[in-house]
Amino acid sequence: MRDEEHGTRIAGVEMHPESLMMGYGYRPEWSEGALKSPIFQTSTFVFKTAEDGKKFFEIAYGLHEAGPSEKLGLIYSRLNNPDLEILEDRLTLWDGAEAWAVFTSGMAAIATTLLTFLRPGDVLVHSDPLYGGTHHFCRSILSDFGIQHVSFRAGSDLDAVDAAIDQAQAMGRVGMIFIETPANPTNALVDIARCAEVAKKFSTPDHKVLLAVDNTFLGPLWQHPIKHGADLVLYSLTKYVGGHSDLIAGACLGTGEHIAQIKTSRTFFGSMAAPWTGWLLLRSLETLKLRMTCAMKNARYVADFLQDDPKVDRVLYLGHLGEKDAEHAIYRRQCLSPGGMVSFEIRGGEREAFRFLNALQLVRLAVSLGGTESLAEHPASMTHADIEPDEQARLGITPATIRVSVGVEHPNDLIADLEQALAAV
Ligand code: PLP
Repeated sequence: MRDEEHGTRIAGVEMHPESLMMGYGYRPEWSEGALKSPIFQTSTFVFKTAEDGKKFFEIAYGLHEAGPSEKLGLIYSRLNNPDLEILEDRLTLWDGAEAWAVFTSGMAAIATTLLTFLRPGDVLVHSDPLYGGTHHFCRSILSDFGIQHVSFRAGSDLDAVDAAIDQAQAMGRVGMIFIETPANPTNALVDIARCAEVAKKFSTPDHKVLLAVDNTFLGPLWQHPIKHGADLVLYSLTKYVGGHSDLIAGACLGTGEHIAQIKTSRTFFGSMAAPWTGWLLLRSLETLKLRMTCAMKNARYVADFLQDDPKVDRVLYLGHLGEKDAEHAIYRRQCLSPGGMVSFEIRGGEREAFRFLNALQLVRLAVSLGGTESLAEHPASMTHADIEPDEQARLGITPATIRVSVGVEHPNDLIADLEQALAAV
């Protein structure tokens, strides 16, 4: 569905993604002049001729490589659908990716991607901590398929990645490197360029070690992993891209070749997103920059307020990294803003954390993040409950840790709510 005729330039000037989010990849003449793409709420598509149907299937199933003038026509909404194709085209613009694949959830994107490239006997090298669902998938599910894992702690220790790879090599073939940066929920950073170098070093002519980055916390506005050498970038679109806490979706982006492989798996795993979800995401993309910019500004007020409160022991916020912090150099190299996620440790433990969470009124007590409304949760007993307490402690997740996803409310109102909840502890 790529709008090659109109492209991304006007009078030779390359347009910014936010200027293209309202129309790129769609032409009103395709749909009776409708300014916005209709919802193509259909399971299947009518072929003009049987020959067309045969050709589309040959391309879809890789029996015949598409020539330059041949496109995969619309077949069936588990494979492709106009709303999802327009969405995939628009999403490529933010990260400068060749191609995207949209999924029914962030976990579907992660699971489908890992199972596309890993094989029994492989070892997955991943950063720690990871979002709890990803942690469970990498540790418990993949091991049932004969795929082992080795992890290294997110942070500034560059030798940790090498040590993890050495350990992985002793166990089997290094399959992939998977990192989440900033890490959920600690905001710890992993050096993307450094991991890309390591992946390259351990690749062989027969097997390229791919570097996959979960960019949910800062992307697609504030961090562009492909520019730092990543092969694949993963998203829970449920978060900032969806942005209104009313849908579940995910995506993977990368080179055309890798995404074609992933899309083949998606067809057979059946992990494609639905047309209505695609349409909602198209609508959300139009305000993505406005929402993420507002959340980012609000997060600074929230983090500064928490930092000064005597009932708060420690604030984990990228905007507070200073020259003296070892991760500052990584932040300067790969992040374009501190984003909207703030975690902190309340003085005390679970009891104090729960008192605070139960007292919140404007900020809602819920998991998830990246929506217009601010949310707070308790990682140790909620999103990361699957991780053993001693491992949680090693990763910097304590009973006192609270994660806040800052939304687009008035910052004074957010601070008033946080202040009254802290007073209730
Ligand atoms: N990656 C990160 C960093 C997340 O925080 C989440 C969910 O919270 C996911 C992936 C999974 O996304 P989804 O809930 O859309 O499956």
